[in-house]
Amino acid sequence: MSALKAIGRAGCACLMACLTGAWAQPAPSINSGGIVNAASSAPNTPVAPGSIASVYGNFQLGAGQYWASSVPLPTSLGGLSLAFGVIGAPLFYASNGQVNLQIPWELSGQSSSLAATLAEETSSPQMVNLAPFAPGIFSINGQGTGPGAILDSTYHLVNASNPANAGFTYILVYCTGLGPVTNQPATGEPAPSSPLAETTTRPTVTIGGVPAQVQFSGLAPGAVGEYQVNALVPENAPVGDAVPVIVSIGGVASNAVEIPVEPPTADERAEQLLGQMTQDEKLQLVYGAGGPVTNILSLPRGAAGYVPGIPRLGIPDLYFADGSVGVGNGVGQATALPSSIASAASWDLNEATKYGTVIGAEMRDYGMNVNLGGNINLIGREPRDGRTFETKGEDPILAGKITAAHINAIQAQHVIGGIKHYALNDQETNRTGVNVQIDERGMRESDLLAFEIGVKDSNVQSVMCSYNLVNSVYACENPHLLRDVLKGDWGFPGFVMSDWWATHSTVAAALAGLDQEQPDNQYFGTLAQAVASGQVPQSRLDNMVQRILRAMYAVGLFDYPEHLTPVDTATDQAIAQEVEEQGAVLLKNAGGQLPLSAATIKSIAVIGSHADVAVLSGGGSAQVTPTGGPVAVTASPVYPNPPGWAPVVWDPSSPLQAIQAMAPGATVQFNEGSNAANAAALAAASQVAIVFVSQWTSEGMDLATLNFTDLTDPAPIDQDALVAAVAAANPHTIVVMENGGPQVMPWLANVSAVLEAWYPGQRGGQAIADLLFGVVNPSGKLPLTFPASVNDLPHPVIQTDNVNYFEGYNVGYKWYDSQGITPLFPFGFGLSYTTFSISNAVLANNLTAANPNFQVTFNLTNTGAVAGAEVAQVYLGLPASTGEPPRRLVGWQKVLLQPGASQPVTIEVDENDSSHPLSYWDVNNNDWRMASGTYTVYLGNSSANLITVGTFTVN
Ligand code: BGC
Repeated sequence: MSALKAIGRAGCACLMACLTGAWAQPAPSINSGGIVNAASSAPNTPVAPGSIASVYGNFQLGAGQYWASSVPLPTSLGGLSLAFGVIGAPLFYASNGQVNLQIPWELSGQSSSLAATLAEETSSPQMVNLAPFAPGIFSINGQGTGPGAILDSTYHLVNASNPANAGFTYILVYCTGLGPVTNQPATGEPAPSSPLAETTTRPTVTIGGVPAQVQFSGLAPGAVGEYQVNALVPENAPVGDAVPVIVSIGGVASNAVEIPVEPPTADERAEQLLGQMTQDEKLQLVYGAGGPVTNILSLPRGAAGYVPGIPRLGIPDLYFADGSVGVGNGVGQATALPSSIASAASWDLNEATKYGTVIGAEMRDYGMNVNLGGNINLIGREPRDGRTFETKGEDPILAGKITAAHINAIQAQHVIGGIKHYALNDQETNRTGVNVQIDERGMRESDLLAFEIGVKDSNVQSVMCSYNLVNSVYACENPHLLRDVLKGDWGFPGFVMSDWWATHSTVAAALAGLDQEQPDNQYFGTLAQAVASGQVPQSRLDNMVQRILRAMYAVGLFDYPEHLTPVDTATDQAIAQEVEEQGAVLLKNAGGQLPLSAATIKSIAVIGSHADVAVLSGGGSAQVTPTGGPVAVTASPVYPNPPGWAPVVWDPSSPLQAIQAMAPGATVQFNEGSNAANAAALAAASQVAIVFVSQWTSEGMDLATLNFTDLTDPAPIDQDALVAAVAAANPHTIVVMENGGPQVMPWLANVSAVLEAWYPGQRGGQAIADLLFGVVNPSGKLPLTFPASVNDLPHPVIQTDNVNYFEGYNVGYKWYDSQGITPLFPFGFGLSYTTFSISNAVLANNLTAANPNFQVTFNLTNTGAVAGAEVAQVYLGLPASTGEPPRRLVGWQKVLLQPGASQPVTIEVDENDSSHPLSYWDVNNNDWRMASGTYTVYLGNSSANLITVGTFTVN
C-alpha cells in the first residue's frame, strides 16, 4: 500500500469543521522547527523536495481529522491549506496538531518558508530546513518498524522475507528523502510504474554495519513522495533479532530501523552454489566414482562410496560408509556396538541417541561424511531375513522413532544421515530381482509408515532406494515411491541414492526421482546426453544437485570442515555396554533362577559359542571391524556360503572372563560344546550351566529355519541338541542367545532361564555378566514377535521371484493378533528381576478436529525388591469397520523405579504425530483419515498382556 493509501486508511472524510466567518477565526500556527522528515520525526531534521514531511502546530481544526482520499493529492483538507510562497503543498492528512504533506518538487535548490491558511487566516511563515537529500526509513519489507511506519506494502518488486536470510534475500526499504529521480511525477502525483522513477544518485544501505548491494532505488510506484530501495542482505551480515538498517545518500544517514536477520537456509545456499556450477561439475555430483565393480574396494579411505568434491567451489568430497551398528566396511577399527535390533529393544530414545552419537562421531573421526545406516525395513514380515539384526523390528512406530533418534544423533555430528532400503526390501533371497506386490493401504500403514516417521522425525538428508521391485517397478526408478510419496507427500528435501548397483536405467530413474547413482556411473554416466537430448529436463539435473548440496549444507559439511582424529574407544565402548544392558531381553526366569548370586555360587559351567573368547556379530556391509581387532575363533576362518563375501567376525569380549570376574569365589569352567555329552557332564558337575547359543546372519542370505544353526564352524554344532543335553543334566540351565532376530526354542520348557543378548557388541561379555548377576536389571522388550514356528508366518516358505504381501499392514504382532495365533514370545515382552503393577489407569481425550489426542494416565509401581525399569505400552484398537488388526502400538514410556516406588505416568497419543496413530490410509482420498466409531485403548507391558483402559467414540 502506498503512503497515501496507508495514511488515508483510517480516515474520516467528513468536512464538518469548515468554519465560516460568524466568529473571528484565530490564525493557525506552525511550531518553530515543527517541519520534520516524516520518516524519522526527529526535530530540526532537514527535508528534501519530493518527500514526505510532517508539520506540527495549532491548525485550528478542532477534533476533526482529514485524510486525502485520492490522487493527485489535494492542497486543502478541512479548509486548511499549506503553501511555500505561492506553491501549494499536497496534503495527505490534517488534524489540529499535525499535517502531513509532500515537499513540492519545485522547491529543489531553493530555501523557502511555509505558512498555513484556514478561513483566510494565515499563520506566520516558518523556514523549512531544506536539503537535497534527507533520507529517513519508514518501514522495511512493509513491516511497520520505523516512525510513521507504512504497513502492508503491496508492490514488492522482488520477494522479500521476514526474517531476512543473510546472503539470499532482498529487503525492501521504504523511505523518504532520496532526492531527484528520473521520470519525475508532478508534485502530489503518484510515482509511475513504467518506466520507474529511479533516483539520480544511488543511496548506500548498510545492514548491521555491512554494506549491502542495492538492486533498485527509486520512487515506490503508485505512491506519493515515498522511495523504495531493494537491497541484498549481505552474506556476512550479523544474524540476530534486531539488526540495524541505515540508508545513506549525499553524505547523510537515515534513522536506523531494526530487522531480524537469520542465517541463510540450506536450500538458499545450495541454490546459490548451483548457480555457479558448470554442467560437468553438476554431473560429477550425481554418481559415485567407484568405477567398475572391482574398483570399489580401493576407494579412498576405505569408503564404500566416493564422490569427489569441487575444490574451485569449496565443495568437499563425499565419503560414504556403512554404519547401522558402527562404522562399517574397510574404513578401520571402530566400536562394534550391539546390533540395531538391541537398540530398538531398549525402547529408549535417549539410549538410541547415544547409539547414534557413537556412530556419527566415529564416522567423522574417520572422515566419513555420509552414513549408510538407518536400515528400517520392517523385517518382521520375514524374520528369517539375514539383515534383521540391522533393523528396528516389526512395528512402524517403534522402528521409526528409534531410527529417527539414531539419525538425529548422527547428523548432529555433521555427518549426512541415511535411511534405507526404500522400500519393502524385507528379504535377502533374490533381493535384486524379487518383485514385491502389495496394495497401497498395506504399504502406507506398514513399511512406508516406518520410513515416513523416520524421515519426518529426523530431517534425514539421504534415502537409499532398494534393489527389489515394488509392484513390478524397480524401487530406484519407481515414480510412485520416490516422487509421489517420498518427495511429494512427505516433502523429503534431501537426495535419493541407489543401493549399490541398484540403478537400472538413466532416463526412467532420473525422471522417477533418483538423485545419485552408487557406487559408479553405469547409467548416470549418460545423463549428459539424456539432458542434451531433452529426455531429462535440465531442471531435473539441477534439482538432483540442489538436493545433494542442500544435504551437505544442512548437516554442516561446509561449515564444519573434516577433522580426522582417532576414535574415542573408552567412551564409545562404555556406551556399547550400556546399550546392550538396556536392550537385552530376559525371556524366561523360572523359579527366580536369575540373578545369580556372586556371594553364594560355587561352580558355573560356561558352554558353547566361543564364550571363552568372544561374542558373535552380524555380517555383511553392516559388519564392523571391532577396535582391538576380531578374534580368530578357529584356526582357519570360515566364510560361509551364502553370502560368501561376508566374513564371520567375533568381537573381542569374553563372557567367560566377565563371569569369572563377577564370581571370583566360584569355579568357572568352559566347554566349547562340540561334544554334547562332555558338555552335559560338566553341567552335571556344576551348580548352574550357562549355555551360549549363536546364530550367524548376514546381508545376502536368509535363514532356512528359525532354529539355531551353526554356520560358522568347520564342524557345525547342533546347538539345539546341545542345550537339550545340558538341560537334561542340570535343572539350572541358563541359555544366553547371540543372534539377530526371532528364534524358535525347542528346549524352552526344559531350561530355567533365557536371556536374549542379540549380537551384543564388543562389550557384550561384560554386559551379559552384569545382567546375569543382577548388577543390571534387564529391561529390554522384544521389538519383534518370536513365532512358535515358521508355519505361523504369513509366508511359511520364502518366495524368490514374486512375493505377494497379502498380509498388507498386518506385520508381526498384527498378523498373529488378527489370525488368533499365539506366538512363542509376543512383541513388547520382556521380564525383569522385579515386578511392576499398573493402577488407577484413566483415559482422557480431546477429539477436536484440529488436534485429536488422548492421554492415558496411571500409576506405575515397582512392587519388587530391586530397582528396575518397565516399558509401559499403549495400544489402540480402531473401529471394526476399518478392518484394522485388533491393536496397534501408539505410545510407550520406559520408567525406572526404585523398589516400592510409585510414579504417575501420562502417555499422550496425538493424531498430528508423524505416526498417524488414530488413522487408517484412505485409498479413496489418498490420505490418512480417522474412522467414525469406537476406539478402544489398552495399556500393559507387552502386546499380549494388556488391560482395557477405556473407549472413545469418533463421530
Ligand atoms: C547394501 C547396502 C549398503 C551398500 C554399501 C549394499 O549391498 O544393501 O545396505 O549400504 O551395499 O555397502
